[in-house]
Order: sequence, then C-alpha cells, then structure tokens
Amino acid sequence: MTAPLEPRPEGKRALIVGTGLGGLALGIRLQSAGVSTTILEARERPGGCASWHTHLGFTFDRGPVAITDPDSFAELWRLSGQDMAADVTLEPVAPFWRLSWPDGASMDLGADDAALRQEIARIDSRDIAGGQRLLDYGAEAVREGLTKLGGSRFPDARAMARVLPAILQHQGWRSAYGLAASMVGHERLRQAFSFATLFSGGNPMAVSALHGWRHRLERDTGLWHPSGGMNRLIMGMVALFERIGGTIRLGDPVARIEMMGDRATGVVTQGGWRDDADMIASNADLMHSYRDLLGQHPLGPRQAGKLTRKIWSPALFAVHFGIRGTWPGIPHRSVLFGPRYGEWLTDIFQHGVLPADQPIFLMHPSVTDPGLAPEGCSVFSALVPVPHQGKLPINWQEMAPTLTTRILDEIGRRLIPDIHARIVTQFHVSPSEHAADMRAHLGSAFSLAPVSSQSLMLRPQARDAVVQNLFLVGAGAHPGAGVPPVLAGARLAAQAMLEDGA
Ligand SMILES: Cc1cc2nc3c(=O)[nH]c(=O)nc-3n(C[C@H](O)[C@H](O)[C@H](O)COP(=O)(O)OP(=O)(O)OC[C@H]3O[C@@H](n4cnc5c(N)ncnc54)[C@H](O)[C@@H]3O)c2cc1C
Repeated sequence: MTAPLEPRPEGKRALIVGTGLGGLALGIRLQSAGVSTTILEARERPGGCASWHTHLGFTFDRGPVAITDPDSFAELWRLSGQDMAADVTLEPVAPFWRLSWPDGASMDLGADDAALRQEIARIDSRDIAGGQRLLDYGAEAVREGLTKLGGSRFPDARAMARVLPAILQHQGWRSAYGLAASMVGHERLRQAFSFATLFSGGNPMAVSALHGWRHRLERDTGLWHPSGGMNRLIMGMVALFERIGGTIRLGDPVARIEMMGDRATGVVTQGGWRDDADMIASNADLMHSYRDLLGQHPLGPRQAGKLTRKIWSPALFAVHFGIRGTWPGIPHRSVLFGPRYGEWLTDIFQHGVLPADQPIFLMHPSVTDPGLAPEGCSVFSALVPVPHQGKLPINWQEMAPTLTTRILDEIGRRLIPDIHARIVTQFHVSPSEHAADMRAHLGSAFSLAPVSSQSLMLRPQARDAVVQNLFLVGAGAHPGAGVPPVLAGARLAAQAMLEDGA
C-alpha cells in the first residue's frame, strides 16, 4: 500500500489546523516533500481522537487502542528515509476481537483461517463455507473499497461514473449486514462480520458492504499495539515531523482562516498569533472549519448551512477505568453484544434513544502492554455508541453517572464480578465533552456518516471546491473516518496540495 514520493514544491509554506492523525500524517507528507509546514493545535496534547490521559500511573488511550496496516504509518517515516521502529515499537495483538453474547456464547476473530473456521463452526457448522466467502469478500472490500475507492479523488461526476461498474460488480449496493446475511445464516455470525463498520461511523445495516474491509485488513496486516500506548505513536509522529523541520504549536486554537477574495491567506489564533501560507488545510471538524474558522467569508455560512442538513455519525460514550487485579483471560478488544442488534442500531442511528441493552466495546490494552498500569493493576476502556446530540439532546452531565454504572454493572455481570470494589481511578467522556474538547459537531465521534449520499464524490474532497488553496484532511473528508481511511485521506490531501503547489 505504498504510494510514490510526491513532487517537491520548494519554498512553499503550509499551515494545518489540528493535530489529529490526519493533520499529523499530512504535515509529515508535506514537510517531507519540502513544504515548510506548521501545525496548529487547540489542545495542549496532539492526537485529536487518538489522544490519551494519564493518572495515578495508568495510561488511558482515549481513542483507538491498536492499529492495523502498520505499513501505512511506516510509509510516513520512509518518506524522509527514516525508520518507524526507531520511534515506535509495535506489539502484535491477538485475538483481534473476542465477541460474546448475553447467554455466554463467544467467538474469537483472529488471523488464523483454520482457527476462524473452528470458531464459526462453534456458532453454526453450516456457516463454515459462507464464513470463508465473507473472508474472500473482505479481500475485495480492502482492494476495491479501501484501497481503490478510498485512495482515489473524486473531483467530478466523470470520476464517479468510472467507478460505478466496480461498485456494482462488488455488490457495493448491499449493506455490510445484508452481504453477511446473504452468506451466513446464523444471526451471531452476521453480527460478527458486520459490526466493525461502526468504527468508521457507519450503521452496518445501511453502510455499503465495501466498507466491510476491517476484519480482512486485520487478518492480512495484523493488529498492533504501540508499546506504551497510542501516545507513543502520536509522539513518534510529532518527533518525526519536528525532526524533518516541521513546527507544531499546541494549546492555542485557530480563531479564523484569513481570506482575500477566494484565496486563503493565513490563520489567526485565539492567542493572537498569526501567519501567512500558500496553502491551508483544516483537520478540524468540518462544521467548525466552515462555520467558525471561515465564518467571515460567504463560503463559511453557505457550507455550514449545507452541513446542517447532512447525516452525522453517532457519538460514543466512553468509560475509562483503572482497576486492581489482572485479567489475562480478557483480550485486548472485546465486544459484549446485547440481546438486540438491528433494533439497537435503529435506536442509535435513527430513533435517537438510549436503550439499556447496548453492546459494549471493551478495550483492555494492558493485557498486551502491562506497563500501561501500575504493578498488579489493569487499564480498561468501555465504549458505547450513542446517538449524537442532534438526535438525543439530553443533559449528559445528568445522564453520565447512570450510564457509567450501567456499563460497569454489565461488565461486572459478564467478566469482572467485583468490578466496583476494584476501581482505582475512572473517568468518562460523554458526547457533550467530546463536542467541547474536539470542537466536534453534535459530539459525533466519526463526523459525517459514510452513507452513499455522503460518500466518494458526495463527501467533501481534499481540495475545497471554491477556495482552491484550502484543503480538508481527516474524518470529515473523503474517504472518511477511522484510522486507515484518515491516513488514506492524508495521502490524497498531500497529493492535491503538492501537484500544483496550489
Ligand atoms: C473513542 C474513540 C474510539 C475510536 N476507536 C477507533 C478504532 O478502534 N479504530 C478506528 O479505525 N478508528 C477509531 N476511532 C476513530 C478515529 O480515531 C478517528 O476517525 C480519527 O482519529 C480522526 O482523526 P482526524 O484526523 O479526523 O482528527 P481528529 O482526531 O478529529 O482531530 C482533530 C484535531 O483538530 C483540533 N482542532 C479542532 N479545532 C481546532 C482549532 N480551531 N484550532 C486548532 N486545532 C483544532 C482538535 O483539537 C483535534 O486535535 C475512534 C474514535 C473515538 C472518538
């Protein structure tokens, strides 16, 4: 999945708003190509959704707890002839997921096909062949969905017309769940092979089957935990960026992008710092970028108005907790499915209600990396998708303690009986806190939903259609949210910024 080195537009200057994974990856690409690049971050810490928190000797990753396709990161180091291993140590994670249901049934998803067949057989032996077909389809989804569609720019309708035959050929009109249902009969296997689209903000019942690449990508490239936590990967990217001459300014939010006519000329921060640039890219939330940062230019309110009518992905409610004791039997990542799946998804994506029987995505990175917790202790994060604030405008300060207790009780029932008594430290991140912290519209954890009316050409592209030297990178832009797509988007943004020097 390596791309050719970009051309070198010497003497150009770029400013990037935001140090999310997209902003950092773009900054490294630009700086490696000879563009003098500064990244401006509102928060005191880089990383955006992939940021972290430390307390009492525990290190909590607030976002992803592992990465797949490590080569897409290593490529960033290779652009300047460096070796990622000098900055980041990756440890393999196995299994990729343990899935369990309320009656105690479970299955592991991992890299070994024979073991996977056995796991499928434990659920329903009639689905072994169908499970293999799903795995084969996953290879198509990686090749066609993630790599080709996700790696292409869609500047006009012709580009879209060119890919339509491939979308049809690869059943892209089916939903991820619909495709699974066409190949396996058991409801639990349908859940097992469709839930992962949630990590790009997509409803498995609605999102194209071509988004169903995650399990296959993990199986082909592995799942890896940066030793010391995601913070080591983020700080590794920061170190690389600074080593090759880039500049990062933390803790000073950009207040506006300055414009002269239809050209972006520079940025001003809330602290009063300002600078000019030939090209400006925003890695911040889309709505914030247009409504707030470009609010003084006609483009800003116009785009913000359009964005209000878009479908936004759900939010996440996260409970992070450090506890006494170690649980070698609880893997790095688990899904504790609830009794309902399709109906639960409809509650979250459409009805905007908060059901009591929600699945829990339980992360346990200290099982791979005990150094994340003090001796004899463990680090967990429980994530629960919840409706975004537009669909569920509740007071999260009031709701958070109830939901936290509900989540911990369920983990207690299913995995750690005396969980409450073991807690050393805990905190939560609610949709309203995520909204305030990341300036994320409606508290959405994955920006615009990856529905077909907001995908490919119909999603914001790397280059703004009106302001030719303004670029977008990150979850809101094509190809979308989740770590692999955001890295692919950074590559597209770099290509667009470097091809003509804007
Ligand atoms: C809890 C959680 C768990 C997740 N787990 C997974 C997972 O397991 N697998 C997966 O693939 N994906 C996962 N994701 C999604 C993935 O983390 C995101 O899609 C990805 O990290 C988004 O990166 P980004 O480049 O869009 O930037 P973001 O992470 O959105 O960062 C944007 C940055 O811009 C900054 N910013 C905003 N406004 C300004 C301003 N005015 N001035 C300066 N800076 C500004 C913000 O402070 C932030 O640092 C998860 C997300 C969350 C929230």
